[in-house]
Amino acid sequence: MLDTASNRPALPPEIARRRTFAIISHPDAGKTTLTEKFLLYGGAIQMAGQVRAKGEARRTRSDFMQMEKDRGISVSASAMSFDYGKFRFNLVDTPGHSDFSEDTYRTLTAVDAAVMVIDGAKGVESQTQKLFEVCRLRDLPILTFCNKMDRESRDTFEIIDEIQEMLAIDVTPASWPIGQGRDFVGCYDILRDRLELMDRADRNKVAESIKIEGLDDPKLAEHVPAHLLDQLMEELEMARELLPKLDPQAVLEGHMTPIWFGSAINSFGVKELMEGIGAYGPEPQPQSAEPRQIFPDETKVSGFVFKVQANMDPKHRDRVAFVRLASGHFKRGMKLLHVRSKKPMAVSNPVLFLASDRELAEEAWAGDIIGIPNHGQLRIGDTLTEGEAIRVTGIPSFAPELLQTVRAGDPMKAKHLEKALMQFAEEGAAKVFKPSIGSGFIVGVVGALQFEVLASRIEMEYGLPVRFEPSQFTSARWVSGPKLAVDKFVNANKQHIAHDHDGDIVYLTRLQWDIDRIERDYPDLTLSATKEMM
Ligand code: GDP
Repeated sequence: MLDTASNRPALPPEIARRRTFAIISHPDAGKTTLTEKFLLYGGAIQMAGQVRAKGEARRTRSDFMQMEKDRGISVSASAMSFDYGKFRFNLVDTPGHSDFSEDTYRTLTAVDAAVMVIDGAKGVESQTQKLFEVCRLRDLPILTFCNKMDRESRDTFEIIDEIQEMLAIDVTPASWPIGQGRDFVGCYDILRDRLELMDRADRNKVAESIKIEGLDDPKLAEHVPAHLLDQLMEELEMARELLPKLDPQAVLEGHMTPIWFGSAINSFGVKELMEGIGAYGPEPQPQSAEPRQIFPDETKVSGFVFKVQANMDPKHRDRVAFVRLASGHFKRGMKLLHVRSKKPMAVSNPVLFLASDRELAEEAWAGDIIGIPNHGQLRIGDTLTEGEAIRVTGIPSFAPELLQTVRAGDPMKAKHLEKALMQFAEEGAAKVFKPSIGSGFIVGVVGALQFEVLASRIEMEYGLPVRFEPSQFTSARWVSGPKLAVDKFVNANKQHIAHDHDGDIVYLTRLQWDIDRIERDYPDLTLSATKEMM
């Protein structure tokens, strides 16, 4: 991460033991199940299954949550803290659906690492890739969990190759699966020379772990059927030759990801992953800010708001600002400076999110996430300090609609650019509009950071440097209605008309007044702020 950090003395133990991370995955890969198992081992809940039940109860509480329920997606991010071994884990939940990606982007500004969960049968999926790229923008260290190994899965080398190629990151196996699908018996723990055997009968039972003295140890043959053992030996041999060794520094710099194989639902591989996050995951990192960086071991407390959630608790009708502590040792009742308004703020009822229930936070350290109930003073990006006028940077602000024109650095590459944009439009990563007058494209996104993601992807995947520039328009509406009326409208408003990647007609403007006027003047037409994705 930041070079300046390496010259500093070791962090105080309370801070050094914190691991603040998010899970990134494609929907259905097993993020919820893995979270439940983390909490189960973290002692935060008694029985797996509670996260889901709790989540569903909460989701009925507001329209937004209702929408989430109807669509079967998770949009509410929350933070959960739990202890395991000597570590304090802070897991910040990310919404999985791409419509809500701006939320995810912000969440990732509050963590020091990400756990990437992939489905062993599916490999790297579209959402995995998108989220990974956001992590890469911040050089976040990534630890990988390849889930559902109890099912028929892809060949281990194939999975590793796919991650290396699609995500351009070195992959080092931390464990190696033994057998496939029904034959899957467990993993060989490469980092610690142990055999981990899965118990299919009891899903909440921790795997049997057997210490092995190297690959010649006769104990291996006692536990692994002969044909699987031969295959394991062969594969481990190949892995040793072909795949890079674990380099903890490369992991911390985000160039290498260790991969564990397991089955979250069978509680298999989860402990090894947790221990891995402890051993190889980063301590709380310095935070970029103006006019100076903030270091976690500074004695004075500082923090920043990365998420605001309304109506978390219907009884209180409050808003909770999620604050990532960037430095210091926070104690309940502290008076902090709200830097934007220059006003002091007594933080008398902060909450820590301990898995199932909110609890009053008596104290917290750099790296922790606390919730501060408030009536709207706290906004995303706000900084709280003990008095210094310092402002945390790098937290994107998201207007609901952002439009920018995009140009290729090399004007001869316009066709190339069009192709790239169409691909992203089809993926749903951005809206792409071709104005009917003039050249170039207008790109619309929900979050400003998405422009950066797009620019870096276009450069990476198409070798095409591009520039995003402010557009004269701020809103887009899809136009529909009887053909005659649409034609008449289009002819009279050519300056404002564009087509999206599907060829559908879009009206662009910067004035709500324009939209109101058209609705009045063209009663047959519908101007719509949304369009069904096909
Ligand atoms: P999320 O959408 O990423 O949160 O995924 P979930 O945790 O909800 O899991 C999606 C589905 O996969 C659920 O039906 C889980 O029961 C199932 N699942 C999760 N982990 C495993 C696993 O290790 N093996 C198998 N066979 N199924 C799993």
